[in-house]
Amino acid sequence: MNPWVAKAMVLAAALVMVAIRAPHGRRSRSVKVAKSHKTSLETGLLVLAWVGFFVPLIWVASPAFSFAEYPLRTGPFVAGVICLVIGLWLFHRSHTDLGTNWSITLEVREEHRLITQGVYRWVRHPMYSALFLYAVGQALVIPNWVAGPVNLIAFSVLFALRVRAEERMMLEGFGDEYAAYSARTKRLVPGVW
Ligand code: SAH
Repeated sequence: MNPWVAKAMVLAAALVMVAIRAPHGRRSRSVKVAKSHKTSLETGLLVLAWVGFFVPLIWVASPAFSFAEYPLRTGPFVAGVICLVIGLWLFHRSHTDLGTNWSITLEVREEHRLITQGVYRWVRHPMYSALFLYAVGQALVIPNWVAGPVNLIAFSVLFALRVRAEERMMLEGFGDEYAAYSARTKRLVPGVW
């Protein structure tokens, strides 16, 4: 397959992701932060997330990673597009359900509500499930050993180093309500983990 098909898909998916997040980002910025749990580790993880987001776009726009290119095949491409589409759908649903309670980092907002409905009924971290699906989709669609897996690696590190701190913060803020919610939900995959 022509790699330009993959480039068009990666660019389109990134634009859809930005379009989904932009209005939610604007709305939640208008709600004051009651307590920030942002550490220097969190700052580092956000930088890593930006690297994971931009490297695939550099691959789209320049030959910087041409040394690591391999041929694009139909099977992985189609599987990757399916992951990207489901990932973006879940990203949209989790942003809609979380509303102004969303933050890019670990923060509790004024009048923060614990969301347990919508896709949050299935798992505790549906937005992270969505971002994992999106990153797996990129790894399958991008026929390049560097630009393909970079977002998956970056997001795996972010998730591994953030999830416990996030759950501690939520437990501190919502007490028994979050403990009960945790007891009846899995983290990323319904019924599995
Ligand atoms: N981990 C969640 C949310 C990611 S956004 C997910 O993957 O869907 C991160 C912010 O969302 C955290 O700083 C926290 O303030 C908020 N948050 C996480 N889970 C929440 C929930 N169930 N209800 C309300 N806010 C939540």
